[in-house]
Formats: sequence, C-alpha cells, structure tokens
Amino acid sequence: MITHESEFRFDTDGDGTIVDITHEAREFIAVSGVTTGQMTVIVPGSTAAITTIEYEPGLLRDLPEFFEKIIPSGVTYGHDATWGDGNGFSHLRSAIIGPSVTVPVSGGELVLGTWQQIVFLEFDNRPRGRRVHFSVVGE
Ligand code: ZN
Repeated sequence: MITHESEFRFDTDGDGTIVDITHEAREFIAVSGVTTGQMTVIVPGSTAAITTIEYEPGLLRDLPEFFEKIIPSGVTYGHDATWGDGNGFSHLRSAIIGPSVTVPVSGGELVLGTWQQIVFLEFDNRPRGRRVHFSVVGE
C-alpha cells in the first residue's frame, strides 16, 4: 500500500475567488505512484470549500451570484455577533458545500468527467493565504 501527501499554497482576493486545482491534483497523483486508490482534497478552514464544477467563464459568474442569492453577504448572522468579524455568510456558504472531495484513482488517473474540474472556493470577507491538503491511499 502507498500513502502520499502534499500541500498546495496560494493567496486569494477574498469572497468570490475560485481556483482550479485540477492540474495540481493530477500532478500529485503522478508523483505519488498510485494507480488504484482514493485521493482526498481538503481545505483546512471554515470559510472556504472544495467542490467540482465545469471551470468556464459563465459558471465562474453564476456561482458567486448563486451564493449571494441563497446566503446574502449584506445580512447580519448570529456568528457576526460572536466575533464581530462580519463573515457569518462565509461560514454558512462553506458549510453547505463542504471542505473536501474524495476522488477515486483508476489506471493512474483521477476519475473525473471531461468537463469536471476540482475547484477551491473562497468565501471569506478578506484576502487569505490558503493551503489545500492532498492525500492519497492506494497501490
Ligand atoms: Zn468568522
């Protein structure tokens, strides 16, 4: 059995930043030597998320607009009273998407659709330095 882990670090401009990390995930799998197994991608933090989308200009507009509709940023949430950091909306958006995805590895490749990319979503109300943790278990 092989286990392998790595971190990918980058800076964001705050809420609305969407980063395609598919290339980094594929490179990670190639370096790991795993041909059959499971990869987990997680962002340690409660104001960001990991999911998959088709990474194209229309959806890069649609997704932030969608979050603004379902969890508006200009509303006071309970969390804002706790810390006064004004990012209650960020935590809620993070919670509904979740911090991680698990992707099978088959034939040395991530099992993803042709138009499916792994993306990091920033929700925090200020620029952040982020790290995304990659791990894989397999053979
Ligand atoms: Zn907060």
